[in-house]
Amino acid sequence: MSTRARIAFIGIGNMGTPMAANLVAAGHDVRLHDARPGHAAAQAAAMGCSHADSPAQLAEGREIVITMLPDDAAVRRAMLDEASGLASHLAPGTILLDMSSSAPEATRTLGAELALRGIVMIDAPVSGLVPRAREGTLTIMVGCDDPNALETVRPVLEVLGERIIPVGGLGCGHAMKALNNIVAATCFAITAEALMTGKAFGLDPARMIEVIDSSSGRNFHTATSFPNEVLTGREASGFTAALLAKDAGIAAELARSLELPAPLATASARQWRAAADALGAGADNTAAARFWASAGGVDLAP
Ligand code: NAD
Repeated sequence: MSTRARIAFIGIGNMGTPMAANLVAAGHDVRLHDARPGHAAAQAAAMGCSHADSPAQLAEGREIVITMLPDDAAVRRAMLDEASGLASHLAPGTILLDMSSSAPEATRTLGAELALRGIVMIDAPVSGLVPRAREGTLTIMVGCDDPNALETVRPVLEVLGERIIPVGGLGCGHAMKALNNIVAATCFAITAEALMTGKAFGLDPARMIEVIDSSSGRNFHTATSFPNEVLTGREASGFTAALLAKDAGIAAELARSLELPAPLATASARQWRAAADALGAGADNTAAARFWASAGGVDLAP
C-alpha cells in the first residue's frame, strides 16, 4: 500500500465526521458513505473528498474499509446486506477496520465469513469523545489475527489516535472496549446516585463533585461529565445514552456468556437500558443522571 491509502469510510456521524476529516487532512484518499440520504455528499463537499451512494462505487479501488457505525448489526448490514452490502464488491486482500463499538462474538462471526471472501477484518474501537476524535488523540484498542494487516493499517490508525494498543486476536478490541465502557458507565451511575442521595440530605451537588473529584471517588465523569454537562444542564457530550446502554449490555452479556458472576455489570446495564429507553433516541448519555435523580424526586440542577 502506498502512503496515500485508498479508504472507504462508512458512518459519518458524531465520531466518523472528525475521524474522516483527519484522514483527508493527512492526505489519504477517502470516499465517504452514510445511510442518511445526502449526508455523505454534503460532508464530502465540506472535507474535500469523494463520496459514494452505491456499494459498487464505494468499493471501487479501495484497500481499506473503515466502519464507524452504531453497532455490529449495522456493520454486518453494511458489509453483507443483499442489496447494499459492500463485501461482494471488494477485492480479496481488502482490510475491514471496524472502529465501531461492536459485540466481540458478532465480530468473530463476521470476520470468519469475510475471510472466506479474502477480506481481513480487524476490530479497532476507540475511546475518547468527539473532542479527542477531532484532535486525533483517541485511544485505539486493536484485535487482530493478522500482524501484517495491522502493520498495513498502522499509518491510518496513527492519524486517528495517540495510543494504539494491540489487545489480542479478532474480537478482543471489541471486548476491551465494552469492558472499559462498563467501568465508565458504572462510575457515572454511582456518582449520579451519590449526588441524588447527597442533595436529598442537604448537600450541594457542585460542592460534592468538587470533593469527590479531589478524593478517592474521583473518576473520568467527576472530572468532565458532571461539571461540564450534568450540573450545567448542557447534556451535550456527543455520546448518546443509547450507545452507552448498548456498550453496557455487551459487557454484561460477555460475562454472562462466559458463565461468570457479574452482578454490578448486570445492574449497571439494566439501569442504562432503562435510562436510554426513557430518554429516547438522540438523548445524551449525561442526561441519565437527571433521569435517575428525578425517579427519587431530586432535581440535580443548581
Ligand atoms: P452516530 O449515531 O453519531 O453515527 C453513526 C452514523 O452511522 C450515522 O451517521 C448513521 O446515519 C450511520 N449509519 C448507521 N447505519 C448505517 C449503515 N448500515 N450504513 C451506513 N451508515 C449507517 O454514532 P457515533 O457517536 O459517531 O458512534 C459511532 C460508534 O462509535 C458507535 O459504535 C459508538 O458506540 C462508538 N463511540 C462513540 C463515541 C462518542 O463519543 N460518540 C466515543 C467512542 C466510541
